Amino acid sequence: MWAGPILLAGVALAFDALNRRVPFGLLSTGPLDEVAHLATAALGLLVLACLIDAPRRFYVAALIASVAIDLDHIPLYLGLLGDSGQRPVTHSLATVVVFIVAAAASRRHRAVLAGVATGLVLHFARDMAEGPPGVRIFWPLQGQAWTLSYGWFLGMIIVFTVARLILVTLGVPRTRIRLFQREPSSAQDVTRAPKDAVPPAGLFGCGGAGPG
Ligand SMILES: [Zn+2]
Repeated sequence: MWAGPILLAGVALAFDALNRRVPFGLLSTGPLDEVAHLATAALGLLVLACLIDAPRRFYVAALIASVAIDLDHIPLYLGLLGDSGQRPVTHSLATVVVFIVAAAASRRHRAVLAGVATGLVLHFARDMAEGPPGVRIFWPLQGQAWTLSYGWFLGMIIVFTVARLILVTLGVPRTRIRLFQREPSSAQDVTRAPKDAVPPAGLFGCGGAGPG
């Protein structure tokens, strides 16, 4: 139960450090950057998994979104956007809000859409800590690009790792908040579902058992 978070923290810090040292290039720093994003998001989700009870698709969507959002850079790299000194405005809380609104509106896809919003927040948090050009996080309300120090990223990784280890070790909280109803085949299944159902095992459980 200790190895997983510590391994993810190590991968996030190592790939982030390499990404900062290697001169920027789509094929050189791109993969380093995305591995750091993926490991950071996975670590954040491990903490979340101790607090909320969400289906697997929530976590899968969050992990995919935590790297896939950078596909919005493609028009920039193709020279289709004028301001190449900035990240695209889709790197902003506006995109997060779109997915939160969509999640609120769509009961069927709520877990996936909320997962995407979560993955985006984790991605933007690290992007801001990468230094210039920063993230226009409050676009369209404000056009300023925000940056955070490296200490923010380091702190994020330490807090996630320590929080996960403490929560798993102490076995708290006893019950996790169930944000999404399970996909029932009928309304009856909801009422029959035990209140303290056994959380799903695997990567994003919060059990103390197992080496993960
Ligand atoms: Zn990004």
